[in-house]
Amino acid sequence: MSTRVAVVTGSNKGIGLAIVRALCKQFEGDVYLTARDVGRGEDSVKVLSSEGLKAMFHQLDINDLDSIKTAAAYFKGKYGGVDILINNAGIAFKAADKTPFDVQAEVTLNTNFFATRDMLTHFLPIVKAGGCVITICGKQSTTISRVVNVSSFVSALTLNKCSSELQQRFRSEDLTEDELVALMQQFVSEAKKGKHKEGGWPDSAYGTSKVGVTALSMILARQVSKQRPNDGILLNACCPGWVRTDMAGDKAPKSPEEGAVTPVYLALLPPGATEPHGKFVSDKQVQPW
Ligand code: NDP
Repeated sequence: MSTRVAVVTGSNKGIGLAIVRALCKQFEGDVYLTARDVGRGEDSVKVLSSEGLKAMFHQLDINDLDSIKTAAAYFKGKYGGVDILINNAGIAFKAADKTPFDVQAEVTLNTNFFATRDMLTHFLPIVKAGGCVITICGKQSTTISRVVNVSSFVSALTLNKCSSELQQRFRSEDLTEDELVALMQQFVSEAKKGKHKEGGWPDSAYGTSKVGVTALSMILARQVSKQRPNDGILLNACCPGWVRTDMAGDKAPKSPEEGAVTPVYLALLPPGATEPHGKFVSDKQVQPW
């Protein structure tokens, strides 16, 4: 089972599609474009094919636990696991959206934080160990093992708007996954009572969800270092920059291809690299948290 495999969530359009495009050009292995909607996903595979690039497709709705489990079982069965996982799928309500804040809080956290966590719960155990020497087309090559969570610069801005108690917890090296989950649940339940500001939370559902993604990445990186110290796994959160997509609109300065640069850089950190790991990275640079 020597074929390497990279999986990108939410990659039928936007930054995810650009990540798949870049990996098709740079990664020696199968690259999976995944999408919650089969039609949209297969259409995007055809777009890449018309550019001479070969992406594979698998359905994957991160809000659907069965879909996550089915995909994880497929990659385990066909490839023995995954070499590269990029959690890119995400949502954001538009600024002008009139949906009540508590609903925005619940819906946004459900996808960006809780569903991304579900992905990691089911896929981290099947992330293969890196550092194996394999032969591809008669050439020897060393495998890599990388997990990239697409967060946002908004996570760092939002962190600074939290109460000092919350900031201290989100930055703490002893923050556990259970405590983080409880904090994210607390944000949603306080938003439902209209009391999130009193609880020290800022007025941003998207920002809070991405605080969760960045903090979760740091927690899981510590866990991986402890539980699988010899597997060469590097796990990081990143910001793609402000990118012209359906989410961010056409005024953003970066193209989707430019937005893919940092996620792809982290996904392809070379064999033997030991850092960054457990960091928040933007423009290929580790950022303060
Ligand atoms: P887009 O809205 O263009 O694309 C989002 C992608 O995520 C789509 O493919 C969408 O699928 C998919 N998606 C949403 N929900 C799910 C789900 N439940 N399961 C599977 N896929 C899903 O956004 P971007 O490309 O701009 O964003 C990509 C990532 O980058 C997000 O995590 C975003 O938060 C982050 N980001 C973006 C920035 C920007 O400036 N654009 C800045 C910082 C971070 P569908 O087509 O079916 O809706």
